[in-house]
Amino acid sequence: MAGISFPAVPNLVTVDNYSNRLNMLIQTRVVYPHNFSNTKNEFKLLYSETIHSFLYGCPDAALSLAVRCLEQGLKHYLNENNIKEIHYKDKNNNKRIIKLSYARLFDLIQCDENPVKDKEILQYLKSLRNYTHEDKLVEDFHALEAIRHVTDVLNELFSFKTLTITVETCRLCGQKHSIDIDSKDYFIGNRIMLKCPNSSEYFNNIGEFIVDI
Ligand SMILES: [Zn+2]
Repeated sequence: MAGISFPAVPNLVTVDNYSNRLNMLIQTRVVYPHNFSNTKNEFKLLYSETIHSFLYGCPDAALSLAVRCLEQGLKHYLNENNIKEIHYKDKNNNKRIIKLSYARLFDLIQCDENPVKDKEILQYLKSLRNYTHEDKLVEDFHALEAIRHVTDVLNELFSFKTLTITVETCRLCGQKHSIDIDSKDYFIGNRIMLKCPNSSEYFNNIGEFIVDI
């Protein structure tokens, strides 16, 4: 008897893989770049798409988008600081000046005006060229590394110390609360217990805040 044949299911991302990537992301403690994302709606959407690309198993897209966020972040920061042209050395070691609006990512990374001074991070940013200009496919781990480093830079350029969450009516005491969240706890996927400052130490949980993208 002929069996029923089902069409082949393409090898889409399984829930299990998604969960694994989400766990990797949470464990990496990538602090959501709140101030970068809030600078422009386009930045928010680009960053969100970066993270979603990683979570849905598209590491090549995630890395390219992370690099785009970095380029936009650096350009925006320099422009805000009234830097209209940048100085850098080309591959023949000749000094060059270029208008900021024409600068490409690697000009921005190598220019004298680059605000990122941490040598290790700079070295990493330079190494991104290996991924963006070669045919080698990006692995999840490398996409996550790019997200981590790029996000660190974005948070350095557009820094924040705390964010305030407002609870309009507390379910325990009925009052309005403003609760500060430290930036180091504001990592993507973190679940933060909100506590009522007026209640006892043991029964003070008024809800959970999840750092979403
Ligand atoms: Zn309360």
